[in-house]
Amino acid sequence: MIGITPIAPLQPTEVTFNYAGNNTPPVAVLTGLNTLLLSASATPVPDIVALGATITADGIVNVAGGARTGDGVFAVATVNVGVSSPITASVDTGGSTLPATATICETNAATSLCLAPPSSPSVTTQINTTATTTFGVFVSRSDLITLDPGGTRIFVRFKDANGITRGATSVAVRSTLFVPLFQQLFTGEFAVSNFFDHNVPQEFVDANGNMVTFWGEIVPFFDGHQGYDFPMPEGTPLLAVADGTVSFAGQSADFFCPPLNRTVNGPLIEIDHVTTEGTFKSLYFHLSRADVTIGQRVQTGQQIGLSGNTGCSTRPHLHFETRRVVNGRAIVIDPYGWDGSGIDPWTLHPQGTESVRLWSSGQAPALFKETRLAPNPSGSSAPVTLTVFRWMGVRDSQYPNNEFVEVTLDPRFAPTGSADLTGFSLRNNNGDTFNFPSGLILRSDQPIRVFTGAGTNTSTTLFWGRSSGVWNNVSDCARLVSPTGGQYRLANASGACS
Ligand SMILES: [Zn+2]
Repeated sequence: MIGITPIAPLQPTEVTFNYAGNNTPPVAVLTGLNTLLLSASATPVPDIVALGATITADGIVNVAGGARTGDGVFAVATVNVGVSSPITASVDTGGSTLPATATICETNAATSLCLAPPSSPSVTTQINTTATTTFGVFVSRSDLITLDPGGTRIFVRFKDANGITRGATSVAVRSTLFVPLFQQLFTGEFAVSNFFDHNVPQEFVDANGNMVTFWGEIVPFFDGHQGYDFPMPEGTPLLAVADGTVSFAGQSADFFCPPLNRTVNGPLIEIDHVTTEGTFKSLYFHLSRADVTIGQRVQTGQQIGLSGNTGCSTRPHLHFETRRVVNGRAIVIDPYGWDGSGIDPWTLHPQGTESVRLWSSGQAPALFKETRLAPNPSGSSAPVTLTVFRWMGVRDSQYPNNEFVEVTLDPRFAPTGSADLTGFSLRNNNGDTFNFPSGLILRSDQPIRVFTGAGTNTSTTLFWGRSSGVWNNVSDCARLVSPTGGQYRLANASGACS
């Protein structure tokens, strides 16, 4: 605790603190981040305490901006713990020159709507003692902004009628690339088995031991994966994700396939999409049939071929890959962009480039991992079984309803056609337990799904009520425990149910 007693009026000053250890260099002084705005007055003055809140709740505002759709936005909440006063709230970029502009409006605290169109660079309003006035800030950019949390910041300052700063807050800012180019890849939905690895996406070359998903989660799936793998039945129709020209359709060159331990080639299709934001390529691998030829123009949604199990593949699936042409080279990128904290790790690699979100709104395949099996597949005779275990989606920690478990009656072992779930529970390997409501009846052909998050229960949809995911994304076991203690198990990885 630090106590300060002024002995004379003091203009607003950024008080710096020096942190140093014996074996470490001193911590850098970052104005607005680890400094204290201090002032003293002989008469009562307004005193504005302000907090900024970003959509991603990490203190970073993402700006698509420029010719692209979607500006960055953040909210600021204040409370005046001093005297009532007119206050001018203004936005700036601190001491940095950034290719960014910001506008500000006062908002209705209940609806977050601007009371008047946002203006640049300031808005003036009366803030009375204890009033909690809120603001919205909108950020546009004219060029890329690489995240530097200490240097790329948008400040909001609150000045009284005499122009003296009585409070401030700030958030970091960075650019994200978003080109809403791609439409539907296939009809229906298929689980994903491998994501794009932002930690060196070079198949069979990268060996750093893990995969980094586009939201920054470190997972142990296929190290170096260059695209997205969707297991699907052979012969599933594949669609052109955008208008373009087929630049390749045929057999790849021979290459050594480590999973098969032999040299293979395989049919693939590559389509070029030329846009004002540059040229992108979509590539479809492991096909059983190509319906297009080199040089052919294709239109969004047109069937271009059928999925298969050819080339370097161990089971029927589509490998969908995206490339971005930079300085004449087609470099793999993630069509889901980068949404983790900090900058895209792939951009830091000498051969890397920034990933671009290419999916139009609502068109990206949902990304989830699940185990799906028929009731009693290995000869057991349980009347109440587990048939779907969806154990991972995008950011389960924030969106627990990505996860669910499906409970299904096996009529072969339930002659009455129903079962009472009183006394049944669900458990994970960690011991977290969900108890089924007393008197709930499971009926033939009416499976019941138990979602991890919050919601309103119905006769076939139940909610565990957790604020984050319960199923481990690497190794876990869904255990349906009967009133007598028997367990029916479904694993999300081999050996996870012991
Ligand atoms: Zn793949």
